[in-house]
Amino acid sequence: MWVKINQLSFYNNHLFSSSMKYEEIFITDKEGYLKRNYLFTDPISLTDVKECIHCGERMVVGDYKVYKDETGFELICCPNFLRCGGTLIDWWDID
Ligand SMILES: [Zn+2]
Repeated sequence: MWVKINQLSFYNNHLFSSSMKYEEIFITDKEGYLKRNYLFTDPISLTDVKECIHCGERMVVGDYKVYKDETGFELICCPNFLRCGGTLIDWWDID
């Protein structure tokens, strides 16, 4: 099912916007997928708690969702992605 989001954002130099549609991809090996696709070098674990600066909510990293856009580009997203448009670049550490 293709869905739209209501925010404009960037993801690793990739612009995505409300003019594109997204489809959720269901990941079985969440740890492996995160390791292969994480954009940064800092260590991250599925049990880490982060705050999404788009929706302001705290999330356990393992609850991330993956969406692909119409070009097949895959984004690791906030669990509230459809509402907030947040992706892993919007996850901040909680002090
Ligand atoms: Zn969010």
